[in-house]
This record gives sequence, C-alpha cells and structure tokens, in this order.
Amino acid sequence: MVNDDKLDISKLVNQVVDSIESLKDSYGPFERHASQTVSNTRASEVLTELTGLLENNFPYFHPNYAAQMLKAPHPVAVAAYLATMMLNPNNHSIDASPATTAMERDVLKQMAAMFEYPEDFLGHLTWSGTTANLEALWIAREINPTKLIAHSADAHYTHSRMSEVLGTTNVTIATDAFGRMNLNALEEQLKTGSIGTVVATMGTTGLGAVDPLADIVELSQRYGTRVHVDTAYGGFFKLIAENHLDEETARHFAALKHADSIVVDPHKHGLQPYGSGAVFFRDLSIGKFYKHDSPYTYFTSSDLHFGEIQLECSRAGASAAAIWATLKIFPLTEDGLGAGLIQSRKAALDWHSLISKSENLMSYQVPELDILTYLPVTKSMSSLDQISNEIMVQASQGPKIDQIHVATYSVKPDQLAARNINLQTDTDHARILRSVLMKPEHVDWVPHLHQTLDELAGKLISYHQ
Ligand SMILES: *Cc1c(COP(=O)(O)O)cnc(C)c1O
Repeated sequence: MVNDDKLDISKLVNQVVDSIESLKDSYGPFERHASQTVSNTRASEVLTELTGLLENNFPYFHPNYAAQMLKAPHPVAVAAYLATMMLNPNNHSIDASPATTAMERDVLKQMAAMFEYPEDFLGHLTWSGTTANLEALWIAREINPTKLIAHSADAHYTHSRMSEVLGTTNVTIATDAFGRMNLNALEEQLKTGSIGTVVATMGTTGLGAVDPLADIVELSQRYGTRVHVDTAYGGFFKLIAENHLDEETARHFAALKHADSIVVDPHKHGLQPYGSGAVFFRDLSIGKFYKHDSPYTYFTSSDLHFGEIQLECSRAGASAAAIWATLKIFPLTEDGLGAGLIQSRKAALDWHSLISKSENLMSYQVPELDILTYLPVTKSMSSLDQISNEIMVQASQGPKIDQIHVATYSVKPDQLAARNINLQTDTDHARILRSVLMKPEHVDWVPHLHQTLDELAGKLISYHQ
C-alpha cells in the first residue's frame, strides 16, 4: 500500500506560510514599503546562491554523519518555527508574545515534570546551554559570592569561560576511568569548606558520561553546597533512564529532582533548531536576583513576564512554538520523544559490541548514553593519533553517497591507562575516534558504519606497520 500521508515538509511549510499570510491579511492589506521591495526573480536568485553555498556543509542530517553532536531539527519544528518567525513574537514580555509566552509556560511545565521537579519552579527557555548555565552559575554566585564552583575535568569547556565572565573561581574535580566525577576527589574539596556550588554533568559532551548525581546530592547536603546539573546534552535521556539505561545511571537520573538548578538543550536531543536551551530553579526566592526596572516593556499583564526572570532581553517566541508543536507529537514520555533516544542508545551499544569483536578497532569505554569512543589497535600514542586522524579523513572522502563522517577526541596516556590501554607513550596526547549516534536511524546504519571503518582501520594499521 502506498503511504500517501507521509510527512511532506514542503506541504507543511506551504500550509503555515499560507495561514500566516491570511492572518496578516485579516488586519487589512498594505504594501511593503518601496525601500524594502525586491522582485521575486532577484530574491530567488539570492536564495539560489544561498542554497548553493550551503553545499559547503557536512551532512549533519544523514545517518552517515556519525561525528559531532549535530543533527537536523524535526520538520514539524521547522514549520512551527517558520510560521511563528513570520510574526516574530518576542518572549521577553507578554505584550510582545501572548501566544508564545503561554506555549513557553506549557513546555517548561512538561520539561520540569520530566525531571520530576516540583510544580512551583522558576525557569525559562534560553538561546543556548551556555546562556542557561551562565544564568544558573550567576545565581549560584549571588547566593554564595565568596565561594568556589566545582565541576569535573570533563565538564563543558564553557564552565571555565563563564567563571571568567562571572569573576568566580572554579575548581576542577578529577574524573574516574569512566569519565565521571570522582567522588573522593570531590569530597576532599568539600571538606575544605570553600565550595559553594557543585556542577554535575549528566552526559558529558565528550564521552557521554553521567556524573554520580545521587551521591553528589548526598555529599552536597552533608557539606551544605548547592548542586547545579548541566544536562544540556543528556537531559532527555531521563525519559528512558529507568528502563533503558544501566541501573546505576538511572539512579543518578532519578536524583535530578533534588538539583537546585538544571539546564537542558532542546536543540540537542529535543529535535529543535538552534536557539533552544532551558534553565530551571527549584527555589522561587532566587527571583529577587533578577530585579530590574524596564519602563517600556511590561504593560498588558500583571502575570510574570519571562523578561522579569531572565538574563537576556529579546528571545525568539518561535523557539517556544517549535518545542510546543514538537511535544504535541512527541510528548515527553518513553514512547514519545523517548522512542528515538532508545534507538540512539541501542545504536551505541550495538556498535560497541561489534567493535569488541574486531581485531582492528577497540572501544575506549562502554557508552553510557549514545556517544561511542573507540580507537584503532596500535602500539604507540603517535601511531594512534596518526591512524585515527587518517580514518576520520579518508572515511569522509569520495562521492557523497559513500562518505562516512566521524569525529576525533583527544586523550592522554594516563586516561588510556585508566582504561587498560597501554601504549608506548611517545607523545603526550593522541586522538581517538568519537561518534555521537544521536539519530534514531543510526541503529540501522551501525553495521555499515562499522564494516567500513573496520576495513579502513585494518588497511591503515597494516600500511603503517
Ligand atoms: C552543548 C553543551 C553545552 C553548551 O551548550 P550550547 O547550547 O552549545 O551553548 C554545555 N554543557 C554540555 C554538557 C553540553 O553538551
């Protein structure tokens, strides 16, 4: 049977453009000003040039792209974003965005419920994980102005950059052999009494490791520190933690409800285009730190305007609309948005198990979420570095249809040794291979990805012997 109700992005886009154009018309027609008119032919020429230039990209949307944390948004999110952007509401204030402010409240509630957060929370969408983390750490600094912020050595690099912006001092806590925050090292620091906030990462950007949040929460309660959780990448795995992640990992996801603040990026695992982060706070009283006077923005409603509780001023209502529409179709349940994550997770485990049987490739560590790190079997750090890089480069060459894209990740000899990989240390770091399997389609691609890279690794290893 022919499926004639298959998702058709052109149809969706036409539908929303037509609807928004007639919505505009209902206010009475007017001509675009002469200063901004352009012929259809000229506009089309420029857009043709644009789409031509966009050839210069890697195929982030395709399962043969198994490299960085990049994928295309869902067509529903694209159409919803486009429709809303044509009106361009600004979720700074209710006056500027009555419809999309309501949508934002709705999606925030859904995300807070996913984390099992209390119903009364303070939070909002942001442009990105970086701005969301910045905001959470700004509040942390306001609460404990003289204290330090601790995060693991594998925390996102922006945490140390933000400490420069905020004028805080950050302490780096060592990681264990799985890339998770080392609890003994953390407790050593907590004992000094100097730490005000501990940042736990649920899903590190490099390895996808999940910090032991349940234990961090317990230690933090004992030593009286705040806990901020950066789940920019990993947060949506909460949906599948109980039934599809390791028991220990699930225990830590279950502790999210105890966090003082949480950050998640719908533009990573929430099917959204960029410009989509979110921050949540448990304690409503932190609202006092946002006090500001804005004589020109808040008119029509005495309800809370997002602008009153966020660092940024203007913010795209289109982002809220895109999440809202996406979650209508893929709700925050294991069967909804979780269904895709189950496949990504399976893809990582499947590939890990294929690699475990290979003579040419070996795993760096067992994937905890959907990021796989692996390496060619070599004798020295320098040949590891060289062959990893050659695999990445050579796999990505040739006709588009044959290309496979993977990424690299830099490791040090002690990190390899901690994973029982002992190489001749003729250099102080080497690249290994890294694949973020964040598209559910990856699960069907893994045999092909593995076979191609395994053969290539075999060839390059014997060539270099
Ligand atoms: C991606 C990421 C960030 C940064 O978020 P952006 O949205 O890229 O600004 C922060 N922390 C973690 C763990 C991430 O994966």
